[in-house]
Amino acid sequence: MKKRYLFTPGPVPVSDQLLAAMSEPTIHHRSTEFEKVFADLTANLKLIFQTKEAVYVQAASGTGGLESAVVNTLSPNDRVIVVNSGKFGERWEKICRSHYLTVVPIKVPWGQAVSPDQVSRLLDEHPDTRALLCQACETSTGVMHPIKALSQLTKNRPETLILVDGISAIGGVDLPMDQWGLDVVVSGSQKGLAGPTGVTFIALSKKAWAFNKKAQCPRYYFDLRAERLAYDKNQTRFSAPTALLNGLNVSLNHILQTGLKKHFQRTNELAMATRTAGKILGLTLFPKSPSPTLTAFEIPPSIDGQKLKEHLEVYHQITVAGGQEQLKGKVFRVGHMGEISDSDLIYFIEKLGQSLSSLGAQGINDDLIGQAIQATRAVLCQ
Ligand SMILES: *Cc1c(COP(=O)(O)O)cnc(C)c1O
Repeated sequence: MKKRYLFTPGPVPVSDQLLAAMSEPTIHHRSTEFEKVFADLTANLKLIFQTKEAVYVQAASGTGGLESAVVNTLSPNDRVIVVNSGKFGERWEKICRSHYLTVVPIKVPWGQAVSPDQVSRLLDEHPDTRALLCQACETSTGVMHPIKALSQLTKNRPETLILVDGISAIGGVDLPMDQWGLDVVVSGSQKGLAGPTGVTFIALSKKAWAFNKKAQCPRYYFDLRAERLAYDKNQTRFSAPTALLNGLNVSLNHILQTGLKKHFQRTNELAMATRTAGKILGLTLFPKSPSPTLTAFEIPPSIDGQKLKEHLEVYHQITVAGGQEQLKGKVFRVGHMGEISDSDLIYFIEKLGQSLSSLGAQGINDDLIGQAIQATRAVLCQ
């Protein structure tokens, strides 16, 4: 198979062992064989979510998990505060509006993190708020939000939940659900969990389950009360994506065998190495408080962002993500999740330098690219 360098913040590269596990003969989703796969998977997920609660498995991309979080805890006309600091905050806001919730949006300039003080003031202003919704990492800008501080604001308000979109955070950065008192945590398979695309995961605190009893949003496919009955038998309610789950167990086992703390350190190390090298190549970091799971770099004004992406793809088999909406052509995003080796990153830095140089970036020559590679190595060897 042709080697690809998938440096996007989702989907992410997966290991050969994971690919092999996905190519095993299909098993039936109502078999003891599958029940064993499912039991391993959910035990692994609980350790990675750092929760004692069940982590439910639903066949959908991450956006399905965001909708599941809303419909399983809230009702039409409920007031919710939604942090909108980019593409994914905007999406969660749209999901809430489509279920006729009353949205109080917090518009945060792209590239910045939400201020807990501002959230605190809004909660005081609207004491009937049923939930605060926020991304842990807003993947469109590369920002990490202060989730621990936000959780302090909802902890002592029995009538208010905190719902966290951890799709590009869980598995890549520390987000201890129980310790921080997070009420709903959503993840997806193709980002921090280093798996294939197509599965979403959701866990609810006891407080969130109490909300579930009163939640009136219509739901059928995503109904977690029914899903819970299947979960208790180590099954999913509907046909499980057995090949995907079999593959996911490989990456979750790998993360847990490495140890969560060490695995987070590795993600951070890839981020630091990329940023150090990027700085040498004249790139600036876009977000003010960057997440370790991805890096959004500003594209030098002399360079066409679309051309840079194409150049990396066509000449070097490297895929990076461009900017979305207002950031189109202005930033490019590099993921640090999934199966990325030291030599993959060094190759990436070399080819990034060469591509910037071919497209006419000022002052980039072989000597500077050499320095960037040295700096990458130095960070990775620490
Ligand atoms: C990728 C992503 C999503 C959406 O996931 P899909 O799998 O594309 O539906 C939602 N939120 C965040 C923070 C993401 O990074």
